[in-house]
Amino acid sequence: MDITTLSFLHHIFKEVQQKQDWKAALDTLFVSLRGTFVFDNVVIYLEDPRTKSLEIAYARAMGRGKAAEADAAWGERVAADVLSAKKMVIKEPKKGTPIRDRMADPYLLGMPLYIASKLSGALVFIRFGGPEYSDLHVEIASLQSFWSAALIERRDLQEARTELDSVQRQMRLQDDFVSTISHELRTPLGFIKGYSTSLLRQDTEWDDATQREFLNIIDEEADRLTRLIEDMLESARLQSKTLQFKFAPIRIDALIRDVATRVNTHHPELKIEFNLESLPPVLGDSVRISQVFENLFSNAIKYAPSSKLTIGTKSLGKRVRISFADEGEGIPEDFLPFLFERFYRVPGERTVTGTGLGLYICKQIVMAHHGKIWVESVLDEGTTFFIELPADPTL
Ligand code: ATP
Ligand code: MG
Repeated sequence: MDITTLSFLHHIFKEVQQKQDWKAALDTLFVSLRGTFVFDNVVIYLEDPRTKSLEIAYARAMGRGKAAEADAAWGERVAADVLSAKKMVIKEPKKGTPIRDRMADPYLLGMPLYIASKLSGALVFIRFGGPEYSDLHVEIASLQSFWSAALIERRDLQEARTELDSVQRQMRLQDDFVSTISHELRTPLGFIKGYSTSLLRQDTEWDDATQREFLNIIDEEADRLTRLIEDMLESARLQSKTLQFKFAPIRIDALIRDVATRVNTHHPELKIEFNLESLPPVLGDSVRISQVFENLFSNAIKYAPSSKLTIGTKSLGKRVRISFADEGEGIPEDFLPFLFERFYRVPGERTVTGTGLGLYICKQIVMAHHGKIWVESVLDEGTTFFIELPADPTL
């Protein structure tokens, strides 16, 4: 081998290796060797280990303006032959046959793909109207098949890694949850126990006002405990998809005002500004949708205290958009992707109680309505939650 070829290969190796995305890496691999090895289409077929059917993992058309996917059907037969013969397959029109339609007589070259030492698919090249594949071409194709297999193996490893990360995060969240939940359950129980024990003491007389005060605390803490347990059950039901929804046409603007009034009776300090456009009715479960709004209100009260909350609605034809914008501290960008995960709470100093279930429940409810929920936040400016729901399709 001469030095020029070697440094050429070295250059390609570096280019391919630098690509993060496996498809981009394959593009580089095939395009960069095209000076020596010309073809029209290239397709990678992988065998589904369960169904044994061939799936197209990658396809690219280089010439003749044909869509790679459309040509993939030709390659599939060759790929199947490669898998059954367990070796390279070449299919070319018979020598000396008069050229009819170039498209009707493709020159096909199929190479086996060994992924993690297992024959898992085939790399197929297609040339319309020849020329035939020379020994050099076969060598290059073989090099490309080894390389493609390595890139696909890298993709599989990356995917497995991402999944593992997500499972590990989930496990960490579960661990945190156990400590959060025991704390969250113990606090109200501690109050209830403490104040009822005080009231029951034989050696002390409590005046009426004090008795009422103690009983009020017991009452409120019992409510808090009930809410917490309901949230836990609800999130379990939502996760197992056993929660029943009762759909009926609802007027979102009226619903928001109802919930806001209720919230304001308990939290008169919260300033709510409305920016409501009239909306078409939405087919939804009003109890569940109210619950979504309640959590957004409760979050604004907890995480953006003394900020004004602006609620907007907007009609987008077949969809409606609702926004809850506060002017609190905001949430660092790194944490935003996890906000709607079960048990997730933004890490940091914790003075505010919560279990990290609220937004998870919101998301599940919104998704059951075929809608979406997302968040935008700017540090020191505020956080806005958006919800989009489809308008009632029957109206
Ligand atoms: P729960 O709602 O179950 O009582 P929670 O309020 O902690 O507990 P979520 O409602 O799911 O849980 O919110 C998740 C996290 O998102 C919160 O812990 C908080 O850190 C952050 N967060 C939510 N809303 C806001 C907001 N408006 N401003 C700043 N941070 C917010
Ligand atoms: Mg919450």
